Amino acid sequence: MKIRSPIISVLGHVDHGKTTLLDYIRGSTVADREAGGITQHIGATEIPISTIKDICGNFISKLSIKDTIPGLFFIDTPGHAAFTSLRKRGGALADLAILIVDINEGFKPQTIEAINILKMYKTPFVVAANKIDKIFGWESHPGNSFTQSFQEQAPSVQQDLNQKLYELVGELHKLGFQSERFDRISSYASQISIIPVSASTGEGIIELNAMLLGLAQEYLTQQLEIHENAPAKGTVLEVKEETGLGMTIDTIIYDGVLRTNDEIVLMLKNEILTTNVRSILKPNPLEEMRDSKKRFQKVDEIVAAAGVKIAAPNLEDVVSGSPLRVINDEEDVKKEILKEIEDITIDTEEN
Ligand code: GDP
Repeated sequence: MKIRSPIISVLGHVDHGKTTLLDYIRGSTVADREAGGITQHIGATEIPISTIKDICGNFISKLSIKDTIPGLFFIDTPGHAAFTSLRKRGGALADLAILIVDINEGFKPQTIEAINILKMYKTPFVVAANKIDKIFGWESHPGNSFTQSFQEQAPSVQQDLNQKLYELVGELHKLGFQSERFDRISSYASQISIIPVSASTGEGIIELNAMLLGLAQEYLTQQLEIHENAPAKGTVLEVKEETGLGMTIDTIIYDGVLRTNDEIVLMLKNEILTTNVRSILKPNPLEEMRDSKKRFQKVDEIVAAAGVKIAAPNLEDVVSGSPLRVINDEEDVKKEILKEIEDITIDTEEN
């Protein structure tokens, strides 16, 4: 048994800051890369708990966060289109989500769409109320916690921010969610935390990471328990041709272990593909990636959670969002998995 990192997706209306937020989260730990501060996966970035603890310092100790969760695993591609199609096809793309809302614009159509998706799949989420640095009169303190930055603001600015937050609380209420500013939450079970942030200056990102860890610890420990020796389960993010490798699939593995030569089952548009893993590839460390021939590094096996590129015969027609399952020699298991994927295929056609 192993506890894996929770997989986190960022959703929200266009231009509300999804890409900037992911860039900030990655960038803020880049200096630490060599010291193991960040792990680059294919399609994802993982920040170990030790790094989050270093960054979040006091704030984490106040929340009494334990060491059970190894880190936070962020899917690099934001947006809910991918999220919906993957979930419809039975893939488990995210354990947790960050819903990002521009605090100055409030809810927009895609914000509401995103909330409906999260509701449908019962995905726990926090709200990042972004672009606080654009509030009139805001004095930026790059990289600071929200708590520190907020204390430095003029009373009128503080009031303005709180007013805007209450508008968000009202919008969430209309959609059936109780919510509060993160530092006034009395029950994580019944209230959604709203964390004011600036993806540009990094203010509030400390609290955002801390709240994600807290939420994961509170709700997900069972879901995050994986068997290191179980056959792998994953979700295909993208199907891509790569020079020298042929067709490959970028896949998030969220359970078990994947090994070279494993027999895997995948979904094609109207049927099922059974094939064998030819190679498993991880990104090479940054400095070697400039040489395009050395972008990837072959590994014999990989344990969840991981984002890898897989080369195998006959991947041309695999659909993105397809589940991936390793099958072993037991006939019963094989039948069960084939049936499971067949059901998903039929379901998708009906939708
Ligand atoms: P996405 O479409 O949700 O991925 O949004 P982007 O991350 O591309 O952001 C849209 C625009 O808003 C870009 O010009 C960003 O630089 C800007 N932006 C994002 N976050 C912030 C923020 O916290 N403060 C300010 N001032 N600008 C931001």
